[in-house]
Amino acid sequence: MHRNCLICSRENFKVIFTEFNIPILKCRECGHICSSYQPPEHYEGYFGEETLPGEAEYSYWGKAHFPMYAEFARRYLKNKKGHLLDVGCGLGYFLAQIKEIPSWELYGCETSPVAVEYGIKRLGLPHLHQGSLESAPYPEDFFDVITLWDVLEHIPQPDTLLKRISTLLKPDGFLFLHTPNAKIQIPKAKLKKTILGMKEGIHYLEAKDHCHLYTPHTLAILLKRNGFQEIKMTHLPPIMAVSGNNSSFRVSMKKGWYYSVKALETLSMGTLNLDNLFCLAKKK
Ligand SMILES: [Zn+2]
Repeated sequence: MHRNCLICSRENFKVIFTEFNIPILKCRECGHICSSYQPPEHYEGYFGEETLPGEAEYSYWGKAHFPMYAEFARRYLKNKKGHLLDVGCGLGYFLAQIKEIPSWELYGCETSPVAVEYGIKRLGLPHLHQGSLESAPYPEDFFDVITLWDVLEHIPQPDTLLKRISTLLKPDGFLFLHTPNAKIQIPKAKLKKTILGMKEGIHYLEAKDHCHLYTPHTLAILLKRNGFQEIKMTHLPPIMAVSGNNSSFRVSMKKGWYYSVKALETLSMGTLNLDNLFCLAKKK
């Protein structure tokens, strides 16, 4: 296998985890973590006909995401106005939840035709582009806010995408992204493997879907070189489900974890962040 590190371009890896015969690699030079699985060259999106949810499932996932999106809207959109673009908007969970805020014009971009059709016909989202962000006809300096919810970890070579996002943002616009945090995902996956072994149906690192696992440090390097500055991590309430299960016990555990990571971060004077990465970055 021949590949260079996304962050530092060098080629000096060690295997730190193996998920169903797929080695997960850590760069010995800069610490960046990536999956050695080689996905198809062009990412065609996550959704196919077979993965479209029924009404009940859609409403389940909508509810699970609600606290996170509601807090985002309260903090960044309320009493403001402008253009918002959700890149990799999937089935439109996020746009559907914020579409009642009248002062925002909402746009979405998604590679999966099935998901876009769902967003237009079932959710009534008007400005959806089917295809890559590179192919979308948006003018430069147009958006006040661009969001990337659970997208970045799926992109093998994210520099082009991030550069394009930076050119589409207005000079005072910002990018908001949500992605797993390697600092907690790796120990969690190792613990699961030790306790449960390697079993189908258990989420470890999703080695076939998640090409890169970032830390606050590696994410900041990637963003800075693609036109962003003032990179800050924040916290939002978690998705109220664990591996697709929303039993009240699991959700309470997750809420407990959310408050614990916030307390730990305060106690460590901001040096220890074990939450998912919720990152804000301004256009340079
Ligand atoms: Zn590296």
